[in-house]
Amino acid sequence: MKYEKIRKQVLEAILEAVEQGLIKGTSGNIALRDDEEDVVAITPSGIAYKTMKAEDIAIVDLNGKWLEGPYKPSSEVPMHTAVLRARPDIKATVHTHAVFATIMAMGDGEIKPTTPPQCEFVPVRVVPFTMPGSDEVADKVVEALGQDGRAVLIKNHGMFCCGKNMKAAMSATIYTEEMAITEYYARALGTFEPMPQAGIDAMKALIAADQAV
Ligand SMILES: [Zn+2]
Repeated sequence: MKYEKIRKQVLEAILEAVEQGLIKGTSGNIALRDDEEDVVAITPSGIAYKTMKAEDIAIVDLNGKWLEGPYKPSSEVPMHTAVLRARPDIKATVHTHAVFATIMAMGDGEIKPTTPPQCEFVPVRVVPFTMPGSDEVADKVVEALGQDGRAVLIKNHGMFCCGKNMKAAMSATIYTEEMAITEYYARALGTFEPMPQAGIDAMKALIAADQAV
């Protein structure tokens, strides 16, 4: 099988996302760029994830052109490839309809971290609703992520996260959903108190120094 390494990593990640309840049914999609070639492995459209095999994962080029695989690539391929083109530091991208991220996307403001590990992924900007699968939503996600963003919420849709490898993109997804959950419940209790900005800055500096080692 060609591109076995990236196909296997995408399959493992989608199964983990299903197991963690971040993805339900055939919603959500995950992509990973090859280290050497300008190709991207991406989940196919409308295929049940639990019985999926590595060879079922589609291969596209950086413009989203379908190169390999028996099933059509995800309809969100423009969003994934647009981010991979815009951000050479990013290798993996994850889009899910995780419930609390979707709920918090309906607010107008950015969600805020309440624990130190969540700080790595802020700011989490909100992208206004645009049609799924369109170049317009892809452009808006790229714009909201900016030069170093790791996660955005997409109004009336879900979230999009990314990282330098699959582990980093999955961490962004898990912690962004956790951030949405903690803010949702804390607001319901009337006790919401995000990390102070000085704490966020200190955590971000610590994480950046650790990653630089
Ligand atoms: Zn979606």
